[in-house]
Parts: sequence; C-alpha cells; structure tokens
Amino acid sequence: MKITIIVPVYNEQESLQAFYEELNRVTGEMKEQEFEILFIDDGSKDGSIEIIKGFARKDARIRYVSFSRNFGKEAAMYAGFVNSTGDFVAVMDADLQDPPSMLPEMYRAVTEEGYDSVATRRVSRKGEPPLRSFFARCFYKLINRISDIDIVDGARDYRLMKRAMVDAIVKMSEVNRFSKGIFGWIGFNTKWVPYENVNRIAGESKWSFWKLFKYSLEGIVDFSAAPLQISSVFGFVMCLISLVAIIFLIVRRLAFGDPVAGWASTACIIVFIGGIQLFCIGILGQYLARTYLEVKKRPLYVVKETNIETL
Ligand code: UDP
Ligand code: MG
Repeated sequence: MKITIIVPVYNEQESLQAFYEELNRVTGEMKEQEFEILFIDDGSKDGSIEIIKGFARKDARIRYVSFSRNFGKEAAMYAGFVNSTGDFVAVMDADLQDPPSMLPEMYRAVTEEGYDSVATRRVSRKGEPPLRSFFARCFYKLINRISDIDIVDGARDYRLMKRAMVDAIVKMSEVNRFSKGIFGWIGFNTKWVPYENVNRIAGESKWSFWKLFKYSLEGIVDFSAAPLQISSVFGFVMCLISLVAIIFLIVRRLAFGDPVAGWASTACIIVFIGGIQLFCIGILGQYLARTYLEVKKRPLYVVKETNIETL
C-alpha cells in the first residue's frame, strides 16, 4: 500500500529540517508501506523551496510543487490532493503541530478498523490567546446550528483518508474552499482521534485574528444559506411592525387630529431601516461575490516549478 503525505509549506525554513527528520523516523518504522511525500510550496518568500529541493535530491520519495505566489493553505491542500497517487492520503502541517508519530495508529484505523478516514481533533487550546479560543468556540456552535454538515470543534486538517475520499474532494473544485466543511460534506465514516495541542516548533502561525475572522465567514457563506434567510425574516418582521404602526397612526389621526410633532423619531426610524437594508444587501453581496468568483472558473493555483514529470 502506498501512502501520500501532503505537506503545505509557507515560509517554514526553520521547521522543515526537524519536520523531515521526524517524518523520516516514523516512515522508517512503517516498513510494509510505500511512501510519497508531496511538499506544496505555497509561494514561500524564504529559503523553504531550496531546503525541499535539497531533500528531493537525496530522497526519491519526495515530490514537490511550487506555486508562483501565495495562494493559501486551501489551494495548497487541493494541489496536493490533485497530484497525490497513494492508496491513502494524509495532510500534515510542516510545523510539527500535526505529530507524524500518530500516523501508524491512524493507518491501523483505516486498514483494520474499517474506517474511511481518521481525523484529529485537539482537546485543548493550550497556548492560544483566550479571546481567540472564545471566538473559535462561538464559530463552531454557530456553524453547526445553521448548516447541515457537521463541523467538529477543534478539528485539525491533519487526517488520513482512503483514495475514494480524495477523489471526491478533487471533484469539488470550488474556488471558495473551506476544508472543514468539504470533509464534512463528502461524508464517509471518520474516526476522530483526540490529542493535546502541540505548539509549533519554530516560526510563527500564519493566521492573524483578522484572517481567521474572514475564514470563518467563508465557512458560513460556503456551507449555509441561513444569513440570507435571516435577512428575509428581518424584512418580513419590519413589514409587520410598520403595518401595526400605520394602523396606529390612522386611528390616532381620526381620534385626535394631526398635531405636527415627532420629526426626531421619524429620522431615527429612517436611519434604522436604512441600516438594516444596507446590512441585508451586504449579506446578499457576500453570496453574489462568491458566485462571481466561482463563475469565472479561475484555476486555484499556478505552478511555477515541480519535479513531477506529468505536470
Ligand atoms: N500554510 C500554507 N499557506 C498559507 C499559510 C499556511 O501552505 O498561506 C501552511 C503552513 O506552512 C503550515 C500549515 O499551512 O504547514 C498550517 O499553517 P499554520 O501553522 O500557520 O496554521 P495553524 O497551525 O496556526 O493553524
Ligand atoms: Mg501550525
């Protein structure tokens, strides 16, 4: 059996050597299996690609694809899936936050316990800013409530899958990608392996708070139409309220005449309703913008350099 290990890399020159050594140690222990190690260099600006090429010169199992610029981890993972040839495929970060030592156990689960995939979930968020953990929890609660798919809190992208699952993912060639949702959407039975959060060995996380926020919006818009429904409900409720107000005003006019007063409250109401309208148009815009990007059918990434002969 052949296992492909996809490693997305963006500015990881400090961690690559240690990662490669650890991966080598683990793959050395799994003697029955053949390995393909697929580094996807996501337009790194440091020396990452030179280090990867150095590995490839000495190790025939190593393939690499280097992008023309930074396209994001989602694009890197997709490129990995497209170019993988293994019977099983794993995705693993280059910073050793996804311990390669879990691989043998994961492999046993897919070969002996009858699972289609094994995914990892961190049980703690140790070492993470508390505010970030709080927002992350809120996000998972929200998205599970408003979308049909299951998204597990604390799920990492580190997982091992059967070929059939990878083929299904490759068919989902959408431009706006949210992997946690895609993994959930395609189904198959997945075993969840919990583990304690590990801090990255070197370098810094590529995720700023703002980037995470945008990514969470991506997840919501890609896998739920609830915001659109909420804005329709909003509109409907406003209509009902205005109907009641109109009746009230007519009755008051007939009963008490029409003293001119209340321009301040009128102005407030206009501003309030204007705000709600813009807010709802904004929601609509989010969906429309994504439709626009999908319709253009731009490639997800551009390859600059690779050692895969068929590419
Ligand atoms: N990564 C990537 N492209 C990016 C950002 C990150 O390929 O634009 C890679 C990165 O090199 C690492 C993995 O994705 O191997 C996870 O990134 P990071 O450790 O920053 O995320 P975190 O573990 O903090 O969620
Ligand atoms: Mg990391």
